Amino acid sequence: MLVFPLRNYGKVSASENDVFGISRTCNLENTMPFTLPNLPYAENALEPHIDAKTMEIHRGKHHNAYVTNANKALEGTPMSEWSAEQVCRRLKEVPADKMGAVRNNAGGHWNHSLFWEVMAPPGKGGGGEPSGDLGAAINAAFGSFAGFKEKFAAAATGRFGSGWAWLCVQKGGKVEVCSTANQDNPLMKDAIGDAAGCGGLPILGLDVWEHAYYLNYQNRRPDYVTAWWNVVNWKKVGELFASGK
Ligand code: MN
Repeated sequence: MLVFPLRNYGKVSASENDVFGISRTCNLENTMPFTLPNLPYAENALEPHIDAKTMEIHRGKHHNAYVTNANKALEGTPMSEWSAEQVCRRLKEVPADKMGAVRNNAGGHWNHSLFWEVMAPPGKGGGGEPSGDLGAAINAAFGSFAGFKEKFAAAATGRFGSGWAWLCVQKGGKVEVCSTANQDNPLMKDAIGDAAGCGGLPILGLDVWEHAYYLNYQNRRPDYVTAWWNVVNWKKVGELFASGK
């Protein structure tokens, strides 16, 4: 299990299955159990590839709304004690009347928590190429890093409407690329089947909702995808690969 730096998340309850120790915080009132994570860099640190205003609105408004609405949907249910990863993995157990809200909002919280962590300022942890075991796994699956980037970019640009592109690891260490719609993710395989993509553990995710790029790139999603390689934190992705394979 990999526990991300706790920063100011408070007391963390993480299960062995969690990628993120950040997923669920506990407090005495047992209210607002999910909290909005801080960015591990300044809002303007990913410029010029992702602008500060986009980062501010994306995390402060969009991600924050997922946190608020996930908490609201889970309040008073046994799932209010679960991490976001557990909620995604055990979505089938969520009562039918809450399923839609939980799928969208706990999914949104988990997806964005990963997204912030797998980016870093260009040239200061962002960009470059994966090395070590992850680099080898990518070469084995896609032939080369260039082959991987092509497949991932195709998943990101080919996703119709809103959604995500993912690099996932399966147990045993095989990596795969897939994409999902809306705030679905591969952790939801049990509940949503093929809509969850490959069903592996996401170790890299790219948000291709218009809210992630429209201020700077307008309709040019492919330009956003191309620029985004400059801010991918391969060290972090490698750590997630090591902990999840
Ligand atoms: Mn988003």
